Amino acid sequence: MLNVPSQAFPAPGSQQRVASQGRSKVPLKQGRSLMDWIRLTKSGKDLTGLKGAIIEVTEEELKKHNKKDDCWICIRGLVYNVSPYMEYHPGGEDELMRAAGADGTDLFNEVHRWVNYESMLKECLVGRMAVKPTVSKADCHEGKRVLNGMLPKSQVKDALPREGPSFPSYDWFQTESSVTVVIYTKQKNICSDSVIVDLQDDSLRAEAVIKDHCYLVHIRLSHEVQGKFSVQVIENVGKIEIVLQKRENVSWKCLGLPLEKHDSFIPKKDAGLYYRKCQLISKEDVTHDTRRFCVMLPPSTHLQVPVGQHVYLKLSVTGAEIVKPYTPVSDSLLSDFKEPVLPPNKYIYFLIKIYPDGLFTPELDRLQIGDFVSVSNPEGNFKVSKLQEVEDLFLLAAGTGFTPMVNVLKYALTYTSSLRKVKLMFFNKTEDDIIWRSQLEKLALKDKRFDVEFVLSAPSSEWNGKQGHVSRPLLSAFLQRSLENSRVFVCICGPPPFTDEGIRLLHDLSFSDDEIHGFTA
Ligand code: FAD
Ligand code: NAP
Repeated sequence: MLNVPSQAFPAPGSQQRVASQGRSKVPLKQGRSLMDWIRLTKSGKDLTGLKGAIIEVTEEELKKHNKKDDCWICIRGLVYNVSPYMEYHPGGEDELMRAAGADGTDLFNEVHRWVNYESMLKECLVGRMAVKPTVSKADCHEGKRVLNGMLPKSQVKDALPREGPSFPSYDWFQTESSVTVVIYTKQKNICSDSVIVDLQDDSLRAEAVIKDHCYLVHIRLSHEVQGKFSVQVIENVGKIEIVLQKRENVSWKCLGLPLEKHDSFIPKKDAGLYYRKCQLISKEDVTHDTRRFCVMLPPSTHLQVPVGQHVYLKLSVTGAEIVKPYTPVSDSLLSDFKEPVLPPNKYIYFLIKIYPDGLFTPELDRLQIGDFVSVSNPEGNFKVSKLQEVEDLFLLAAGTGFTPMVNVLKYALTYTSSLRKVKLMFFNKTEDDIIWRSQLEKLALKDKRFDVEFVLSAPSSEWNGKQGHVSRPLLSAFLQRSLENSRVFVCICGPPPFTDEGIRLLHDLSFSDDEIHGFTA
């Protein structure tokens, strides 16, 4: 990944030894860390070889630049000369060469989806792909015209999924004081956390997540509206209503002008991440190195992070935008768990471990109350439906891998009526590293269905609990069903090698893929 410093990286035993999806990072040469790269990009050196010119690149031209010392790659329509970056790429030169002289968007999405390559590679920008026209003149004209509530599909015809959910649509209507934008998702059981709405200046951006696709309404409104709006989701018919309040009681002739990707319906993996600035409200110590951060969403944002999903936090570090994923938690384990309700919760809580020599977390830790950090739309492939009929839920967490377990645990205890037992096995180095230990112990006393076991890899001599790393004997003793054939589900999260090893052991112990969820990036 682009934003991990190097130098004999990963160190033996480092939690970063294996990247997400099992990709190994390669050791980088001295002086080839991310910080070195940032310094080089700021040195004023011509990194494209084009002396600052931005050109249109044809497919034929792109194909010619397919060697290590002359390597162009297209990512989402933009072409970069990545040759100067080769030695700085933590995934190695060979990984970059897989996309040499070609469109690397898919490859990039697989491994780098959340990396802010625009910022990292901006000095390597050669130009844009010369696009072959795909829409007729009439279509273009329609796409540009002022919207009146009709649906110009032309911009997005190519994006229509051949299989999967039907293409949603939108419409709008008004009263004297309000304008309601309606999205017809054409899918039943749309939840309120599937809709993300941002109202910024005079633009409305509403994203509806429908299965693995997302539908976007993105409009510069024709008139001013108030900052506050409401979102209603009529679940059984899959209708979403966004009710905006007019600033002036005048009749609108049209809703506004389409903005980028308006009325598009594309696979979620191809949609870029959208960020809004959130204010840091509080920061409290949880352990010697882990803090609970609370950020506040802007008043004109509707966003709820679904159980088991994460967001990306973005900060500028020495002029470069650095992005890292974090899993929101509830404010505490002992407070009542509320399923996302409308109006949305305005606060997002995180438990974040600060690595003194890390790239992102020290910067995050330096933020003062009132400062801003950008928060993305949620991501992740955990499906809460997996918890629906579960009887025995087992949670295996290591270190901050505990974070996704918080909401899974609280959701299951609140909403899974079939649940008989939830057990957490929590792996840490020492007692001091255990996040929310006393809350976990209190919860176990309060709710008979819940139990917690701590396992330490570097305990003090006073520790008389379990010791070691994730292992078959530990797991087989722990994963005892409450009834012989009870429906079971296991969640696992921690350093990637821990998660990989845990999943391997679970398979060994005859758990099926359907019964396991491993949290990864
Ligand atoms: P990094 O720069 O990545 O460094 C991390 C560690 O690696 C440090 O110990 C550092 O010393 C070591 N390291 C870095 N470079 C080298 C090197 N050259 N040689 C040897 N060692 C090196 N974390 C949380 O705390 N809370 C969460 O809720 C959370 N949720 C996550 C959700 C997902 C989906 C994923 C994938 C990760 C999540 N993480 C979470 C981890 C988080 O994204 C970051 O990886 C973590 O915060 C470290 O970031 P950093 O930039 O500060 O550290
Ligand atoms: P840590 O304190 O370094 O380790 C926690 C425990 O895991 C320790 O007992 C440690 O043992 C053990 N461990 C480490 N590597 C292991 C391995 N290869 N095999 C077996 N056990 C191992 O953990 P951390 O610093 O909090 O890191 C948490 C990790 O979770 C990070 O990698 C983070 O990215 C990940 N995470 C992922 C998500 C997600 O959704 N995907 C969410 C949150 C966190 P030792 O004493 O031997 O090191």
